Amino acid sequence: RRDMNEQAVRRLEMEAALREALDRQAAGPRGDAEGEAGFELHYQPQVRLNPYGLHRVEALVRWTHPRWGAVSPMEFVPLAEECGLIDRLDSWVLETSVAQLGRWRAAGVPVPGLAVNVSAVRFARGDLPDQVRSVLAANGIPAADLTLEITERLMMTEEVGAHDALDALHALGVTLSIDDFGTGYSSLSYLKRFPVGELKIDRSFVKELDIDAANRPLVRAIIQIGEALGLTIVAEGVEREAQHRMLEAEGCAIGQGYRFARPMPAAALADWLAAEGRQ
Ligand code: C2E
Ligand code: CA
Ligand code: CA
Ligand code: CA
Repeated sequence: RRDMNEQAVRRLEMEAALREALDRQAAGPRGDAEGEAGFELHYQPQVRLNPYGLHRVEALVRWTHPRWGAVSPMEFVPLAEECGLIDRLDSWVLETSVAQLGRWRAAGVPVPGLAVNVSAVRFARGDLPDQVRSVLAANGIPAADLTLEITERLMMTEEVGAHDALDALHALGVTLSIDDFGTGYSSLSYLKRFPVGELKIDRSFVKELDIDAANRPLVRAIIQIGEALGLTIVAEGVEREAQHRMLEAEGCAIGQGYRFARPMPAAALADWLAAEGRQ
């Protein structure tokens, strides 16, 4: 009972703090500035396994609260979804990360592409394709260099607006990636119905790949689905060399995980690339 109250209080406090941080963000000198309101982006490399090299980076949001310190996105992203704040958060992430890609390129840092997480809620609102088109144009980024990661849940909804948005984004040339693939209640039929270009094998399948033999056929099957449908496969949560080698042997194209790099601030990426080049 007391625990429940404490939890409810924490949720309410966190909702208010999120709202306030987003307001402060929007009121800042530059609407998209990082830091001021406690939001920041980290970027995690996704690497081509063969031949080895940077494929793109995924933007991951970070939030530091003045009193609570770093709050995990596993906690505040679902909360933002529930209390109607995720649109504003995801919009900020999109604007800020695409601008960052433009800055890397202007500075001669070779970042081939960017992946951004978009909540299912955001799709239903319908203005996403327009926002994507204008932020790409404003920063001189080709649509082919942007991937939107969406969870399977979206594919299961019958939201008409979401379906139209997927088609419009595809027509723009943006890649649509299914995040956490294999964890939803999926019927695979949506892979035919929607213009999906990529599947991300969920970390839970990769986690014990080199420990529990039962995982390997599952991962192999997902890679084969990808091959059959012409989809790129990204494995997430690759932590150990043994997992890396197995994924490579199974023909997985792209890997992401601590084995290659942790999420890092934008300023650290050039050094990471330089260190990779020296290896
Ligand atoms: P996700 O999209 O599946 O992102 C991958 C998560 O796994 C990230 O956690 C990343 O830091 C973590 N990770 C990467 N490599 C490894 C590894 O080798 N081992 C382990 N154990 N973990 C690894 P993070 O940054 O805490 O984000 C958690 C989730 O929050 C994300 O899962 C995504 O669903 C959501 N999220 C993050 N940023 C955004 C955003 O801007 N918008 C939305 N809508 N959701 C976001
Ligand atoms: Ca993701
Ligand atoms: Ca994922
Ligand atoms: Ca996940």
